[in-house]
Amino acid sequence: MRDKLVEFKNVSFRYGEDEPWVLKNCSFEIYENEAIAIIGHNGSGKSTIAKLMNGLLFPQEGAIVINGRTVTQDSIWEIRKDVGMVFQNPDNQFVGTTVQDDVAFGMENRGIERGEMVKRIDDTLSAVGMQEYRLTEPHKLSGGQKQRVAIAGVLAIFPNVLILDEATAMLDPRGRTDIMKTITRVMAERSLSLITITHDLQEVVQAERVIVMNEGAIWDEAAPREIFEKKAELRQIGLDIPFVAALSDELQKAGVPINHEALN
Ligand code: ADP
Repeated sequence: MRDKLVEFKNVSFRYGEDEPWVLKNCSFEIYENEAIAIIGHNGSGKSTIAKLMNGLLFPQEGAIVINGRTVTQDSIWEIRKDVGMVFQNPDNQFVGTTVQDDVAFGMENRGIERGEMVKRIDDTLSAVGMQEYRLTEPHKLSGGQKQRVAIAGVLAIFPNVLILDEATAMLDPRGRTDIMKTITRVMAERSLSLITITHDLQEVVQAERVIVMNEGAIWDEAAPREIFEKKAELRQIGLDIPFVAALSDELQKAGVPINHEALN
């Protein structure tokens, strides 16, 4: 049996007392070494879920448990050893004056010993294809290169759960495939669980389970093929046809049998 790593228990959240609820009674579980994709229209609550998972936000109702520990103000530093997160806009995550300083930053915060840090900087920058840039100033990098470095920085902390919130959106398709291969390898080596918030069909197809969000609630949770078969309903909740049609193509390329009646 795989260990339960993430548990959302009846979580509701709003950004302020006068604001509307953006998550309503959400419950789900994620297990060790699982690959999950979270999809849903803009504003459906996906990024809010990610931020609740590493204590950037706290729920007003319900609880979030990571690796057996409830996320609270007191537990966030322990939680952040377990949960690594990369956002869409890497500029918000850079703090170092060089690429290697930046990769070191997350490790310094978590008290990792210097020799081990040097080794991990080397390993993770190689893994994302950025070893030649270790002394480069981050602001001189392209968007895609920044995303690679941000991913290296998070992999270097050896999290148990990696959350990628549109974190490869600036990479070209080839670069995205390379990074996903690297992450798949790390998942196998370290039993990492992966949560991708994504519009990238490859990432949706490769997930074991897809969580579909709609207006702050979990609309469905199933294997990619089962989700796709609800095409008409997906359209009703704002997941557009090009996305769904292309998902069908990707599933077919991946050799997943499709119920063609669901296409019409
Ligand atoms: P998604 O990632 O699915 O696009 P988000 O989790 O970013 O959705 O947003 C969910 C809802 O919360 C949206 O209605 C959004 O406008 C609102 N929201 C997001 N961030 C804030 C914030 N900092 N303050 C107030 N409302 C916010």
